Amino acid sequence: MTDTMRGVFLPGNSTVEIHEYPIPVPGHGQLLLKMGASGICGSDIGYIYHGYKTHKGLDGAPAYKGVIAGHEPCGQVVEAGPGVTRFGEGDRVLVYHIVGCGRCTNCRAGNFISCSDSAHRAAYGWQRDGGHADYVLVEESTCIPLPEPLTFADGALIACGFGTAYEGMRRTGVKGSDDLLVVGLGPVGMAAAMIGRTLGARRVIGVERGAERIDFVKATGLVDDIVLADEHAADSVLELTNGQGCSVAVDCSGSTPGRSTALEGAAEWGRVSLLGEGGRLETEVSDTMLHKQLTLFSSWVTSLQGMEDLTWMLCEAGMHPEAVISHRLPLSRAAEAFELAATGAAGKVVLVPED
Ligand SMILES: [Zn+2]
Ligand SMILES: [Zn+2]
Repeated sequence: MTDTMRGVFLPGNSTVEIHEYPIPVPGHGQLLLKMGASGICGSDIGYIYHGYKTHKGLDGAPAYKGVIAGHEPCGQVVEAGPGVTRFGEGDRVLVYHIVGCGRCTNCRAGNFISCSDSAHRAAYGWQRDGGHADYVLVEESTCIPLPEPLTFADGALIACGFGTAYEGMRRTGVKGSDDLLVVGLGPVGMAAAMIGRTLGARRVIGVERGAERIDFVKATGLVDDIVLADEHAADSVLELTNGQGCSVAVDCSGSTPGRSTALEGAAEWGRVSLLGEGGRLETEVSDTMLHKQLTLFSSWVTSLQGMEDLTWMLCEAGMHPEAVISHRLPLSRAAEAFELAATGAAGKVVLVPED
């Protein structure tokens, strides 16, 4: 092993630079992972790659600290630091993408995403070095074992997008008697469809506007019907369900019309989960929500335990999140990978080691 490695640096002007970094040495409670796969997330694109805006207004300053990018790491332990007890060399792990202080109320419940201690809260790829590199230094506390049939690519997908989808689906209590409506069939929407199926949903209806994406999702077999995301989308959903709508609906589009479609396509007593980031929720309230007795959920990512539960659930169900990947590119082609992800690749874009 040489002492330097490659890592992806994002200057914020829609360009990608690959820099050389020293290979980190694990300290107490830390592990050095050799990258197995590292997902490019929608949140990396707008906030960091394009540099459009700051994230969550953390201290009012840009939250991306110029570290190595990538918050969906999955890999194999090559070195364990002192005090590490749960993992050792050769273990395959996926990584919960945020390190918390470990002491605040949210951290103690495993919700590192909502850690209230901004001095200690650090997301991989945002405030500390992330997974778009040959190696990544991670905290043992954020690692989850990757069980055998699951691949590194499966693990990288669970590390953010599938965890996010799982939390939204879990809140709705989706089960075998439910019809599931998924609005927006990007990587998180496809994850919601796969998880909904795994949790038992008897039918999955998707709503999507991109023709290429519709073809891609059809080929995965994750949804039973796809409705075009136009102004008639909710009517089309009602037609497909004998005028009833779906008992569970999830918005993964993050768009105002997409959220309306989820609410309007939900059945009486339906449960609706909002997952898509950004924008606004604008809806007629009485007929669309109150008179239908809807329950509305909103969530952000999942907990550490939620991610571990999801990993085992997918493993035992024989599901492979990598089914939603449309492009795998080696780290040396990171610029191309980001461009693909930014221009609306049909599915998920993942960085992998060189051939
Ligand atoms: Zn993400
Ligand atoms: Zn905390």
